[in-house]
Order: sequence, then C-alpha cells, then structure tokens
Amino acid sequence: MKKNRTFCAYCGSRLVVQDIEGKNRDYCGSCHSIFYENPLPVACAIVANKKREILLVKRAKDPYRDMWCLPIGFAETGEEVQNAALRELKEETGVDGSIVRLIDVDTVDNYFYGSLAIVTYEIRMTGGVVAPGDDASDAGFFPIKELPPLAWSSNEKALKIYVEIYRDNWSMIDSFTKLFPESHTLESIPAVNEQRRFLSDILIQVIDKHIDHISAKWNSDLIKGFPNLAPHLVILTDLHRNSLKGIQFWLKRGIDTLGVEEFIEAGLILKKKNIPLPDILSVMALSRKALWTYIMSQGILTSPLEVYTALEINNRIIFFYDKINYFLTKGYFS
Ligand SMILES: [Zn+2]
Repeated sequence: MKKNRTFCAYCGSRLVVQDIEGKNRDYCGSCHSIFYENPLPVACAIVANKKREILLVKRAKDPYRDMWCLPIGFAETGEEVQNAALRELKEETGVDGSIVRLIDVDTVDNYFYGSLAIVTYEIRMTGGVVAPGDDASDAGFFPIKELPPLAWSSNEKALKIYVEIYRDNWSMIDSFTKLFPESHTLESIPAVNEQRRFLSDILIQVIDKHIDHISAKWNSDLIKGFPNLAPHLVILTDLHRNSLKGIQFWLKRGIDTLGVEEFIEAGLILKKKNIPLPDILSVMALSRKALWTYIMSQGILTSPLEVYTALEINNRIIFFYDKINYFLTKGYFS
C-alpha cells in the first residue's frame, strides 16, 4: 500500500499528524512545514476500432497483475495530461493516436497509490501496430459488450460514459446500414451535433428509394376513401409526388427556398376540374399519413433520441404540408 511519510523532507525532523484546516495532515514542528496530500494525475485512453472494439492492455506488474484495463499511466511534471494519455497509449500498446475528446475525470482513493485524479480521453488511432509494451503482457481489441473484468473501476465508469455518448449514433448507423446495405459511406461515426442532419439524410434517402411504396399506400387509401376522385388520379398523383419531392428539398435546404409556385398552380388546376377543396386537403392528409406510416414501419426510429428527433421532424413535415395546403388553397381561390 501507499507508504506513510515519517520525516520532514526539508529539515529531517520527525513529523506529527495535526488537524489543520479541518483535516489530519503531516506537520513538522521544527520548520513549521505542512504536507498537503494532492491527488496524482493519471491519464487514460479509450481507443475503439471500426468494429466498436475497445483497446485493452493486460497488466504485467502488480497491482492487479494479469488483469485487463485501458491504457493508463501517471502524467509527469511539466507534461500535458493529454500528451501523457498519448504517450502511455504508445508505450503500452504501440498505437499512435490523436485526442478526440475528454470523456471523464474521476477522483479515487487507491489503496496502492493514494489519491488519484484519473483523466480519460477518447483517442482516435492514427497509426502504429498493436503490440504490448511497457508494463503490459498483452494488448488487443475487445468487443465493447464482452469486455473482461477491468482492473480499475474508473475505467468501467469512463467506458459507460463513452457508450452513452455513442449509443444513439451507433443505433442510427445500424438502422442506416440495415436500410442501405450497399452504402459504404459510413466508415466514420458522425459527431453528436450532426445527428439531426444525419437523420434528415436518412429520411431524404427513404423518400428517394421508397417513393413508389409510399405512393402505393397513398393510392390505395385514396381509392378506398374517395372513389369520386378516381378520374383525377393522374393529377393528384403528381401533386402527392411533388409534395414528397418538396419535403426532400426542404430537408436538404430549408423551407425558405421552397418553390411554392407549382402548388399555387396545382390549386388553380384542381379548381378548374371542380374538385371540392375539402377533398384536396384530405388527399394531402393521406399523403402525409402515407409518408409517416412508411417511415415508422421501417423500424429505423427506435432509440429515444431518434424518436425525439423524429417527432421534431414530423412536426416540421406537418408544418410543411400546412404550407403546401396554404398555397394550394391560395391557387384554388385565385
Ligand atoms: Zn521540517
């Protein structure tokens, strides 16, 4: 365990323990030095590969010999903690890396080392070959769901935070690759602040690829609910498809750039064909319903963040259809 201090480092006198500022501290009665206990900074690295496996090292020395842990070691005086994490990573695993982000700072009282401040970074592997180095008897990647027991509880805590940060991204990527298995564009994980844009991209592609499915559903709903509109199916199908294309456009660029002229014109044409306005609005409601039902039926929006983001996007889709309805009506009465 951590050794106790017996003599003053400055004058060599025997120390006593005194209550100073509310804590028991080593105190030298001869030169009046107080010895404060400060946590030692420890730098730690989370490195994941593209298969979501985590790089671990097997400890060659006590304490915790033969147990696995994240690459970890003491920062030295004058050394940035970030650089200590990169250095320990290189020394213990042979891996070169660059800092992605701070994941966790944990202060612990360790039986062997005393008080520690463990600073864990996410690090992207940029080079090197995995091979055990200093203080490690083995090194390798482990599936994040099948990690061995780790030597440090702080490692477990930091990994839990790491998983929290990425879980939603991973589930989106899984949905995406399930929907578009041919896609090879998802080598890297999108940043957390890009999730919304990422989900928009998914929706744009769903419409792109499945517009016929969505339209078939809309078509059957229409025939069933409004048999009187059957003679106008061609023009109404155009309207429905143009609405979906408008949504894609809007998801890409924003509502302000939407071309509304075609909807005003469509309203005018529908009026000339004597189609009652309530029927037209019902056709649009069926269009919106077909789109949303299709998106939900794909099972791509399952995590809490996806559902939250999806609801937000659904609100905007509603807003968008309202906008189309407004311009249709405007054209209708023009
Ligand atoms: Zn002294």
